[in-house]
Amino acid sequence: MGGTTDRPSLARFSLFSATWHLCVWLGWVLVAYSVVRVAPSVARMPLAFWIIAALALVGELRPVRTSGFFDPQGTVTSTGYVFAILYVWGLWPAVVLHAAATTLSELQKHKPPWKLFFNVGQYALSIGSAALVLHAVGLGGGLAEAGRGLRGSDLPWVVATWVIWFLVNNALVSGLAQESGRTFWTEFADDIWFYVVTTAAVLALSPLIVLAASASGWYIPLLLIPMFAVHKAAKLSLVEQHQALHDSLTGLPNRKYLHRILDHAINSPGQEPFALAILDLDRFKEVNDTLGHAVGDRLLELVAKRIRGALRPGDTVARLGGDEFALHLAGVDGQQHAAQVAERIRSALTEPFHLEDVVLELEASIGVSYFPDHGSDVHVLMQRADVAMYLAKGTQTDIEVYDLARDHNSTDRLGLLAALRRAIEAGELELHYQPKVALADRSVVGVEALVRWNHPVRGFIPPDEFIPLAETSGLMHQLTEFVVSTALDQAAAWRRDGMPVAVAVNVSARDLHGPELVRAVRRSLVRTGVPADLLKLELTERTLMAQHSRVSETIDGLEKLGIALSLDDFGTGYSSMFMLKRLPVSELKVDRSFVSRLSEGGEDVSIVRTIIDLAHALGLKAVGEGVETEEMWEALAELGCDSAQGWLIARPMPAEPATAWLRERLLAFPAEASGTGRIRLLAADTA
Ligand code: C2E
Ligand code: CA
Ligand code: CA
Repeated sequence: MGGTTDRPSLARFSLFSATWHLCVWLGWVLVAYSVVRVAPSVARMPLAFWIIAALALVGELRPVRTSGFFDPQGTVTSTGYVFAILYVWGLWPAVVLHAAATTLSELQKHKPPWKLFFNVGQYALSIGSAALVLHAVGLGGGLAEAGRGLRGSDLPWVVATWVIWFLVNNALVSGLAQESGRTFWTEFADDIWFYVVTTAAVLALSPLIVLAASASGWYIPLLLIPMFAVHKAAKLSLVEQHQALHDSLTGLPNRKYLHRILDHAINSPGQEPFALAILDLDRFKEVNDTLGHAVGDRLLELVAKRIRGALRPGDTVARLGGDEFALHLAGVDGQQHAAQVAERIRSALTEPFHLEDVVLELEASIGVSYFPDHGSDVHVLMQRADVAMYLAKGTQTDIEVYDLARDHNSTDRLGLLAALRRAIEAGELELHYQPKVALADRSVVGVEALVRWNHPVRGFIPPDEFIPLAETSGLMHQLTEFVVSTALDQAAAWRRDGMPVAVAVNVSARDLHGPELVRAVRRSLVRTGVPADLLKLELTERTLMAQHSRVSETIDGLEKLGIALSLDDFGTGYSSMFMLKRLPVSELKVDRSFVSRLSEGGEDVSIVRTIIDLAHALGLKAVGEGVETEEMWEALAELGCDSAQGWLIARPMPAEPATAWLRERLLAFPAEASGTGRIRLLAADTA
């Protein structure tokens, strides 16, 4: 048991701590008195004593480390030897030996003097208490003085010495912790089973040492052999523990380890403030996709190295997965400071990376949250750093500190946002496909891809709930990239199957800012070999019209790729004829709200007729969405609408049933699938 690492604060001087200080001083009195008692007889000590004493020193200097976390100092085996000496030669040499061993190891570990002072006093008093048991059974001077060896009937008092030693020792250590703010009992109970087991393992050695010594002192070193095995086993378990807590690629601590560090920091007696920063590389995925995973891995290793190099001692950087890292910045004094550290890391990453024959430039977005200002729980702090990081990505400010006032998200939404990001990576999102068919002959003119999130706990979450969330964060690009790439994979599979169906993907306003969408589309087209006319992008007319100047670059890029646009929810916004003519729009989707009221006649009929006529006047197709009944179908057909989409024809379906749906119609009516993706259907099929 290694004591605590925090310096006791003398300011909290209470009756309790006065008692505690007295105890430690008492331990020192005992040490001094023991030295006086032992000194005259040192020369007469037998060989067995010296062998045991030597092993005690070795045991103190070579602790057995089983857990790097609970017990950073390891469990020292010297206590077992010290107890053997206590049993055979009594209290005085045991106290002197233990004091010597403790002093030696504390000096070797460069521990501060107050710690040495405490540990020596603490151990002396603990052994002194255990010795009271020997007194009680009339063996105060030890077995040697009584002129006998260890017997079977001695076992109960031997065990009693262990129990007393453990209780007194743990109480003294816990008393120290109380000084720095934690309660005695919390500290006493903390990891108690771990200490019980390791203490028992060490102390159980003591009677065996006595027995060996009673035969011949030369048997005692044999105990080193099983001890050596224990050392080896402990080392192996440390290696395993290391693997479980570290990332194999970069060697950095992993998420689990970081959580432990944060938990520890939050629950530490001093409750020192710290900052948690989440760092996400911008455009790393591009490197991976274009240069391959080997280069990506190498880059991550270099990034890890640079981040580590930019940290202060005592800070930790962990890899959370992918291109995401987290930093625990210990003891930051004020928010300014953490931002400085974050800035240093960010600029360390902006230096170009030289990899084999390429030079790469990286940027990173960093979000910071503070303990205790922003939360006193690991998950909340992580979430808030996450939110700040998204803000940084979204606003291109590189570094953001979490700001409650600016965070319009409720905790629930924050949780969802963090979960969504993981869901995209973990593949919890999937696409469903809903067919669009021609009103004239019911041939399939395409399918619309609609994203679905199967949340492992909350179940199905509709897109209307998480798309807006993704839009306010930096996640939208990632989500759309997933949808585009998955939809084109599906289109390619159908094409190979002889069903060249056009797939429409919904894009949001956010997707039109920046070059990501065009890049993602181009990449997926090249990768899958699907011709551009089999991909359509649906965007609402509001999106397109409101921000035309900002999005024109993206639209131009898409037009160059040969991608046609479909104007979604048409009729709910304001479009200018001029724009409709200028933009690469190929169809207008009549909003569901108008279609659903078609059968009621009146104004809605004239609105739908106007939209359809407008579409035709501009050379575009009109699609009615949300067609649920025969009446709606008939009304649209009568108004000259080109195609329809809705539950009457088919609900959105997962890839497999959608494929079966498409194939069934082709088998029933072997059609010559045309190059434009039109597939003729059995005429009577859906009527
Ligand atoms: P939207 O683009 O207007 O998609 C059509 C919505 O109408 C879909 O809802 C679809 O399931 C539903 N629907 C289809 N036929 C009928 C019908 O006959 N009756 C009724 N009442 N509803 C019908 P969903 O899948 O819940 O999607 C909602 C919205 O979420 C979509 O509206 C779209 O704006 C957005 N969305 C879906 N997937 C994506 C995506 O991958 N990216 C983006 N940016 N937005 C998406
Ligand atoms: Ca749509
Ligand atoms: Ca729509």
